[in-house]
Amino acid sequence: MKTKIVKLEQLEHNENELKEAGQILRDGGLVAFPTETVYGLGADGLNSEASAKIYSAKGRPSDNPLILHIADIKTVDVLAKDVSKEARKVMEVFWPGPLTVILNKKEVVPYGTTGGLDTVAIRMPSHPVARELIKVAGVAVAAPSANTSGRPSPTTAQHVLQDMDGRIDMIVDGGKVGIGIESTIVDMTGEIPMILRPGYITKPMLEQVIGKEVRIDPAILSKEGMDGIRPKAPGMKYKHYAPKGELTIVSSHNMDNMVQTINKLAKEKLDAGYVVGIIATEETKDQYPNGVVKEIGSRKDQVSISAGLYSVLRDFDDAGVEFIYSEGFEQDDFGQAIMNRLLKAAGYEMIRV
Ligand code: AMP
Ligand code: MG
Repeated sequence: MKTKIVKLEQLEHNENELKEAGQILRDGGLVAFPTETVYGLGADGLNSEASAKIYSAKGRPSDNPLILHIADIKTVDVLAKDVSKEARKVMEVFWPGPLTVILNKKEVVPYGTTGGLDTVAIRMPSHPVARELIKVAGVAVAAPSANTSGRPSPTTAQHVLQDMDGRIDMIVDGGKVGIGIESTIVDMTGEIPMILRPGYITKPMLEQVIGKEVRIDPAILSKEGMDGIRPKAPGMKYKHYAPKGELTIVSSHNMDNMVQTINKLAKEKLDAGYVVGIIATEETKDQYPNGVVKEIGSRKDQVSISAGLYSVLRDFDDAGVEFIYSEGFEQDDFGQAIMNRLLKAAGYEMIRV
């Protein structure tokens, strides 16, 4: 299959390209497109055959369900039942945006899309290209991240091409995405709302809107498997986002200690003849004399860090880096989402100094 790439400079000038992408989706094909979180790999989510293609293009385990992307909040009632007042409130406040809501599914949603579950994950993205595409397609678009399973999620069309060239019909290039890590997932089917995956929309933000306690699935804060707790989002149990090099996080409240420790560890590996990468920040990048040093963002702007994370991991893969040392970040509200991705990439290897 030849993968067509269309660059969208200005939405209003690209009506024909969007129509073509919408037609591919209606016909059961695959189109990758930008959202505000990461690039998604879209298919008609109510067509089992179409969503099956997503699994084979990504090499994704079939028990890992897909998120349905919609452009109009009214579509929720086509896809889901027993929607509580609280769930509606959360959707009204945070949509369009980086929040996925788990609800009980209606019969129209095939088990092939939900990985056999009776619940369905739904999100309304805010990225203008994603919104237009879903509208033009006129279908609920199942769209996981557009990477090969196990690789870092794509934040540019170039990343999508690396993984999906020849496997999908079209890539809509809308430039670099904003947030850079996947949406928050909140399960609204139980008495107590539960966060199954941390993201840009945080626990305090949800609690403020819902007016009561929101829990975080304990399995996502611990090393999966180790504690024997099974995460409630099936996808969270897989080792995601893994770079080829062995990644270790060095965390400290004292920046100087952190930098010194990374320099020491990097030097040991360099002296032994390995290719070493360092994940630094704007504030510290000049303090690392050795190795391939990449700045992921500024400590003063958390979104710059989330937006840079996956791209740096891919760069290190391309550079053949064998050992990676990353600075650690504060695990406050959104910081928890960033550290969740970094810890998973590191297989939970973290040194505290
Ligand atoms: P991705 O689309 O690659 O961001 O992955 C989707 C995530 O949503 C995975 O971690 C899935 O396990 C999770 N997910 C999708 N549907 C459900 C559901 N019905 N219940 C729980 N988790 C879900
Ligand atoms: Mg993914």
